Amino acid sequence: MNHFCTQVINLGRTPQRFDGLVNTPVYRGSTIVVDSFKEWEEHKQNGGVYKHYGRFGAATAKSFESAINALEGGAGCMVFPSGLSACTHALMAFVAAGDHVLIADNIYGPTRSFADSMLPKLGIHVEYFNSCDLNELKSKINQKTSVVFVESPGSITFEISDIAAISKISHAMNAKVLVNNSWATPLFFQPLKHGADVSIQAVTKYIGGHSDILMGTATANAASIEQLNKVVHFFGETTSPDDIYLASRGLRSLAVRLKQHEENGVILAHYLNEHPAIDLVNHPALAMNPYHKLWQQSFSGSTGLFSFYLKQNNPCFVETFFDSLKLFHIGLSWGGFESLILPVGTPYRTQSHLPSRGYLVRLHAGLEHVDDLKADLDEALAIAQRAIA
Ligand SMILES: *Cc1c(COP(=O)(O)O)cnc(C)c1O
Repeated sequence: MNHFCTQVINLGRTPQRFDGLVNTPVYRGSTIVVDSFKEWEEHKQNGGVYKHYGRFGAATAKSFESAINALEGGAGCMVFPSGLSACTHALMAFVAAGDHVLIADNIYGPTRSFADSMLPKLGIHVEYFNSCDLNELKSKINQKTSVVFVESPGSITFEISDIAAISKISHAMNAKVLVNNSWATPLFFQPLKHGADVSIQAVTKYIGGHSDILMGTATANAASIEQLNKVVHFFGETTSPDDIYLASRGLRSLAVRLKQHEENGVILAHYLNEHPAIDLVNHPALAMNPYHKLWQQSFSGSTGLFSFYLKQNNPCFVETFFDSLKLFHIGLSWGGFESLILPVGTPYRTQSHLPSRGYLVRLHAGLEHVDDLKADLDEALAIAQRAIA
């Protein structure tokens, strides 16, 4: 198997099928006509469900899905019109009325909102757990648990979970393990190889890489792909081939971009860790991070997203800090080329005891020169300090 940086160049590309074009072109279409009655009947019989239609995707989607599937080490991949859509449909694929699902306390907020507002309406019992505490998982999982949904590292606070151990415990109860793998991308972590059943990507983030599309993927192992496929097609999800084309374009430069996001992120994390105005930096690549060892053992890299606590909770300090930044812009999402900063304050948790600290900030290190980013943070912290002096 080639290195990842070679794989992302070649996966999902078949120029000989497209007049020698290097990229799979944008294939738009709803109707796909056939030449004869006989061919029509054959398509119908092929696998039972009739799939000769635009809703099931054409070459643009299939090229991209095959590339992500290979990177994740799956038995099949499906593309979705957003990362959240990949999360919610993957959940729906494996639950039924009367089931119990366990969801990590540090899951992406909108996934939590879906679980809280939609699943109970369908007669599904939702419970949260601290995914870093295996004993808690063992005590909460039961015969009715059909799904254990984890995100590693966790949203906002970046705890690493032991996916292999979680999978072992969950499979002993016949529960499926779904992992949101957007932070690491399949280049730095492959959940399926650690025993998970489905790996989810918010393609919107690093794979897209340019803050111009919303998209997601769910890649499943052999025991789960059929179920995922079937349920998703019941919902009629489709993703624009134009957007998939952009995602495929993003994929080609993923490895080199991640290298720079990683380098910038680690340098900024170290810088902030030393800064007197900063209390604690949540970044698994820092040696003092409680999840550092687990991260080292299972991940092959870190990316540009992490968080830190401003010691000062003073609203004037906090506001002045955010407003004084020139290169970091306040906004949702991450994984694009640009640096972003997100005011969090206090993350919402119900099962984990976070130390009560100052004001939590999430940072995405973009592809700018790291010295400029550092200077921007330095200046903003100094201005904020003066504002409350
Ligand atoms: C952004 C994000 C999503 C959702 O992706 P969208 O494309 O914005 O719907 C899901 N999970 C994680 C971890 C994310 O950061």
